Amino acid sequence: MSEQQHRSKSGFETRAIHAGYEPDPMTGAVIPPIYATSTYKQDGVGGLRGGYEYSRSANPTRTALEGALAAVEEGERGFAFASGLAAEDTVVRSVCRPGDHVVIPDDAYGGTYRLFDKVEKVWGLEHSPAAVSDVDAVRAAIRPGQTKFVWVETPTNPMLNIGDIEALAAVAHEAGALLVVDNTFASPYLQQPLTLGADIVVHSTTKYVGGHSDVVGGAVVVRDLDLAESITFHQNAIGAVAGPFDSFLTHRGLKTLGVRIDRHCDNAEKVVEFLTSHPGVAEVIYPGLESHPGHAVAAKQMKRFGGIVSFRVKAGEQAALDACAKAEVFTLGESLGGVESLIEHPGRMTHASVAGTDLEVPADLIRLSVGIETADDLVADLDRCLG
Ligand SMILES: *Cc1c(COP(=O)(O)O)cnc(C)c1O
Repeated sequence: MSEQQHRSKSGFETRAIHAGYEPDPMTGAVIPPIYATSTYKQDGVGGLRGGYEYSRSANPTRTALEGALAAVEEGERGFAFASGLAAEDTVVRSVCRPGDHVVIPDDAYGGTYRLFDKVEKVWGLEHSPAAVSDVDAVRAAIRPGQTKFVWVETPTNPMLNIGDIEALAAVAHEAGALLVVDNTFASPYLQQPLTLGADIVVHSTTKYVGGHSDVVGGAVVVRDLDLAESITFHQNAIGAVAGPFDSFLTHRGLKTLGVRIDRHCDNAEKVVEFLTSHPGVAEVIYPGLESHPGHAVAAKQMKRFGGIVSFRVKAGEQAALDACAKAEVFTLGESLGGVESLIEHPGRMTHASVAGTDLEVPADLIRLSVGIETADDLVADLDRCLG
């Protein structure tokens, strides 16, 4: 089956497993080998085999991953980077020049906010924050002619706000801007922003795509070939590429994304059911709940509601800290999206740096990355933590 057929006709899991790679013609290896090579023999000057010249520009292990990433996001071209932030920086430099302006989420991932506020700003790129769940606020933050893109995360972290990708794409395009969606929290299994009008998808593949907490990586996927050309140029010129070992691990993770995410969602639903009936819990934040303000939009654009659950405890900050410290099956730690369940206190951990700003999160908030262990064990652990 050709690459094109994989993309247009096959189901998600088939694409995740097969796209981007045909069994090696010489050996029949069904999995892309780890091409631990920096350079390639040329058959006479300029006689490249398969276009491979130097591994910053291209490496076959990375090429296989990039093809699979494009296929699962229903894009034309995928790019694999050393980290999610490296992917983001390359997108910015591919689209913007000093003097331009961008709109970013008012509750952006902390590292994304730092990139715009401390790095791209010094380079001359202005940014305005707006709530992704408020289309009018995003429209008002756009400066027609100067705004190059609207950057959106949905769901956001850790409050799980939802942005309407179709509506935000229309608002961005009206003003001649692009829509960039950080699809890390949903993963391509639950949401494909390019099919809803987004121009660029970025990922921290460190999270669900890798899925095993064993590799840091990032991705960009686009449909437009001019954009693809600009990103190809900047990926090579800046050089923050995914190495062959990291590409191998990320690609291995991607193959099981569908089954893992379904189990993450099953377990998250059971955890939500337990938490909503617990007397010590003040509020459960999960887009799958009808009480969530973004529920209708999430139901429209996501296949299911994901594996991240946030909740507030009635007894306040110290009780939230104590609950995190008592966890045994949940591991106390940052990051998310791996097979193992994680618990954290955003106010003191992932979001400590935004204390005192508009991005500050409630002190009684706990965030869970619900893993794929036995659901009853997860519920029993939380019961003990909150007991
Ligand atoms: C982790 C994360 C990033 C940054 O990715 P790294 O791989 O850590 O560089 C960006 N966006 C979101 C939503 C994330 O969770």
